[in-house]
Amino acid sequence: MSYNKLGALRFIEENDVKFIRLQFCDLLGELKNISITSNQLSKAFDEGVAFDASSITGFTPIEDSELFLFPDPTTLCILPWRPQHGKVARFFCDIKTSEGKTFEGDSRYILKRIIEKAKEKGFVFKVGAECEFFLFKTDAEGNPTLETTDKATYFDIAPLDQGENTRREICLTLEQMGFEIESSHHESALGQHEIDFKYDSVLESADNILSFKTVVKTIAGRNGLHATFMPKPLMNTSGSGMHINMSLFKNGENIFTSKQNGSLPIIAEQFIAGILTHIKEMTAISNPIVNSYKRIASGFEAPRHIAWSYKNRSCLIRVPATMHGHNRIELRSPDSMCNPYLTLALMLAAGLEGIDKQLVLPPALTENAYEMSPSELLCKEINLLPANLNDALLCMKQSEFVKNILGEHLFDSYLAEKTKEWNDYNQTVHQWEIQNYL
Ligand code: GLU
Ligand code: MG
Ligand code: MG
Repeated sequence: MSYNKLGALRFIEENDVKFIRLQFCDLLGELKNISITSNQLSKAFDEGVAFDASSITGFTPIEDSELFLFPDPTTLCILPWRPQHGKVARFFCDIKTSEGKTFEGDSRYILKRIIEKAKEKGFVFKVGAECEFFLFKTDAEGNPTLETTDKATYFDIAPLDQGENTRREICLTLEQMGFEIESSHHESALGQHEIDFKYDSVLESADNILSFKTVVKTIAGRNGLHATFMPKPLMNTSGSGMHINMSLFKNGENIFTSKQNGSLPIIAEQFIAGILTHIKEMTAISNPIVNSYKRIASGFEAPRHIAWSYKNRSCLIRVPATMHGHNRIELRSPDSMCNPYLTLALMLAAGLEGIDKQLVLPPALTENAYEMSPSELLCKEINLLPANLNDALLCMKQSEFVKNILGEHLFDSYLAEKTKEWNDYNQTVHQWEIQNYL
C-alpha cells in the first residue's frame, strides 16, 4: 500500500501509532533515524525535522551543519517487532538544506536522479537482491562469536539446519512489512543463510535492502544470535554476496525478454556491456570494505573475472535460465555492506550508457574462469576485479563516470572516508603477520 501525505496522516491516527522513525542512510549505507511522536508528523511533512548533519559520516562540515528530513509518505511502514499498542512507524526521508535545496550528499537522491534520467527514455529499472548472511552464536556477555549455530550446508534441513526457526521468524516479520518472500534456504557455509524477496522498482528495492538487513539483525538478536552481512567472516568457505538481479521495463514489458530464437535482445547485451565497461570503477562502491576483497579473492562462487555467461557461476555477470524467456541479468560481485542507493545508481547509469553508446558485448564465457590460466585470460582479454580496497579506490579516483553520477560532494567524501579506512587497515599489524614473521 502506497500512501500520500494525507493518507499517511490518517493511517497514523487510525492505527494507534505513537512514534515515527525518520530514516535515511549515511554515506556508507548505514541506516540512521530520529524518532518523533506522531503528533509531530504533520509538521515534519511541511517543515522537515532538523538534525546535526556534521555527526553523520560523509555529510556536511561542522560550520554548516543543519539539514532537514522530509518523510516520504509512500514509504510508511509499521515496525512489527516494536510494541503493537502505541505502534512505531517508519518513513524513509528526503534530505534538504536550510535553503530548501536538495542535499547533494543524500545517496537516495542520487539514485532518484538517475531514475529520472531513465524515465525520460521510457525505462523503468527493476531490481531483486539476494542478501546472504551468517548467524553466529553470542557469548555470555552477548558479544558475537565465530561459532556457527549449525552443521548444515547448502539446502540442508533440520536437525543439521539450526537456523530454520530464526529464518521463519525473519520471513514472517518481513511479510508483515509488505515484503513478498519468494524463498529461503540454508546456504553453502556452516551458519550461512539466504532469504529472497521479490524484485521491485529500483528505489523500493534499495529501501528494502536496508529494511531487510535491519529485520535480519533484529530477529537474530531476539533469538540470542548475531547476524552479520560481513562478506567473508570465515576462511576456507563461502562468503556472503548480494547478487543484484536486474531487468529493464518499457511500457510495462521486460525488454530483456529473449527473442524468438531464445537469444538475448541487443538492448540487454548493450546494458551488460555498459556494466562490464565500468565495473572496476564502481567496485569501491559495490564492495566497500577491506573484507569485501577477501570474498572476491577466494572463489567459492564469488566472481573475480570480468566476463559474462549464461549458466556459468564463475563469471561476474550471469543470465540465469528462465522458463518464459523473461530474462534478468545477475551481477554477482556486490556485497551487502555497500550503500544500496549508490550501488544501484551506478549499475543503472552504466547500463544506460551501454545502451546510449551501443556498446558491443564480447562473447559469453563458457569455461570455468577459476580454472583458466593467466595466458588464457589474457588471450580472451578477461580482466580481473580490483584485488583490494586500495586498488578499487584508485580505479574510482580516475573515473569521470563515477564522479558524474555521484556528484562531486559524494565522490570526494567517499574517497576521503575510504582512504582513511584503507590506511588504518594498512598500518595495523595483523595476526597473520605475527604468526608468520615474529
Ligand atoms: N556465496 C556466493 C557469493 O559469495 C554465492 C552463492 C550463490 O550462487 O548463491 O557470491
Ligand atoms: Mg546464494
Ligand atoms: Mg544468485
